[in-house]
Amino acid sequence: MDSRKILVIEDNAKNMKLVHLLLTMGEHQVLESTDAEQGIQIARQEKPDLILMDIQLPGMDGLQATGIIKADPQLADIPIVALTSYAMESDQARALDTGCEGYLSKPIDTKTFLGVVETFLQPDSGDAVAVLQKRKHNDVRILVVDDNHKVVSLRNTTTFCRRLTTASQHWR
Ligand code: MN
Repeated sequence: MDSRKILVIEDNAKNMKLVHLLLTMGEHQVLESTDAEQGIQIARQEKPDLILMDIQLPGMDGLQATGIIKADPQLADIPIVALTSYAMESDQARALDTGCEGYLSKPIDTKTFLGVVETFLQPDSGDAVAVLQKRKHNDVRILVVDDNHKVVSLRNTTTFCRRLTTASQHWR
């Protein structure tokens, strides 16, 4: 996939460092903010291709920030992927309700992180393979029901959660 501009809004220095490293390994440009207000400012100035949004932030939280971004016609098309704590399952549903395209659970799975993030990036004309993969994904409906979270791979969870979002938009 071509290099893209990704804004990361995350107040935890350790997580920021890890996310930055993983995105850089994918040759993406990383913009950083440790709070929501500054993150929204950067989004307005830089028009990133994707926003990774921590939910638990000091001051304005990630859900409020998502609401503001999605209400701004200049920014509404930027996909937002919430970074939610594994322990805070309610945040995941709330993130999707607020308009996030998907979520990733922390602690971050370093093996799958980049691949999952890239599924949320719009392929451009140079990404023929990505377009094909995306089409293939859209044709597949996967419902994973399991009480053991570890059995469910991150990629499938995200695919399902994206389908859920799409479906709920459809029904609205
Ligand atoms: Mn946080």
